[in-house]
Amino acid sequence: MSFQLKGQSIARSMLDHYLSKPAPPLLILHGPAGVGKFSAAEWFIQCSLCDIGNGCGQCPSCRLFARQEHPDYILFPEERVLIGDEKQPAPFTVRWLIRTRLMYPPFKGQRRFILMPRADLIQNEAETALLKTLEEPPDHSRFILMVEDLELLKETIISRGVCIPFQLIPASTMADITGQSDPYILDLMGGSLELSNLILDESFIKLKEKIEDGLGHPMGLNELETYVALEKNFQGWKTHLDRSYEEVLDLIGLMILKSSERLPDFPAIAEAVFELKAGLHKRMAGMTHYHLSRFFARLGRILFGH
Ligand SMILES: [Zn+2]
Repeated sequence: MSFQLKGQSIARSMLDHYLSKPAPPLLILHGPAGVGKFSAAEWFIQCSLCDIGNGCGQCPSCRLFARQEHPDYILFPEERVLIGDEKQPAPFTVRWLIRTRLMYPPFKGQRRFILMPRADLIQNEAETALLKTLEEPPDHSRFILMVEDLELLKETIISRGVCIPFQLIPASTMADITGQSDPYILDLMGGSLELSNLILDESFIKLKEKIEDGLGHPMGLNELETYVALEKNFQGWKTHLDRSYEEVLDLIGLMILKSSERLPDFPAIAEAVFELKAGLHKRMAGMTHYHLSRFFARLGRILFGH
């Protein structure tokens, strides 16, 4: 199976290295969202489980893997990881993992792989139990943890594993991967594929047009404000990006910044956007709409002098 991990040469060479020899008990893939950690982890696991060893895509193991049915691949959901009930631990808790999986050899091959895509959400007790396991890991089981920032993991966990760094993808490589040549879009994506689906969506294009309209005349700005202030217009964005309304607004602020780059009033607009961002970051309950209306009032004064 050919796998390209574009823009991640360090991670790629480290993973290649650990494919050619027994993988360490714990790999920690860390770096920003949307730069390929998950697909790299799955590729690594598929190759490791493959009967031939290269993720051929044809052998029984690869076919089970492709159907997401490989019994020796345990993918934790992207949510909180709990310790689990003492007597009857629910699936995808640490007690469940230890008692119903790690106690036994793998079903099919020599090794079992456990992937936790949100290692930052491993809860305290669960972390302690997991740490004990990692101190004396069963030879037949291998862990891969993913996290955006190493700071979110305990030192004790980090010290048990090999850290594999992922970086933001350079603009030229981003253009290559996404087929986007528009500098506006490339800048907004900021070296991560996290936004790439959203940016092709019609709701994004619609908002981009509304922003351009809004910067052009007072009526447009009014319409833009009404549209942006209605949280339900961004339901899809929130789910797709797993971000709060405030974080979506933050992104919209960046779009306004990008769209106004060539305007003579750009410095003043930039200041207004930064003030909005600062307000939103305070996360004061119920203040979001206050910050928004302040922002649009200020934008109106800058652009149209009223
Ligand atoms: Zn295979």
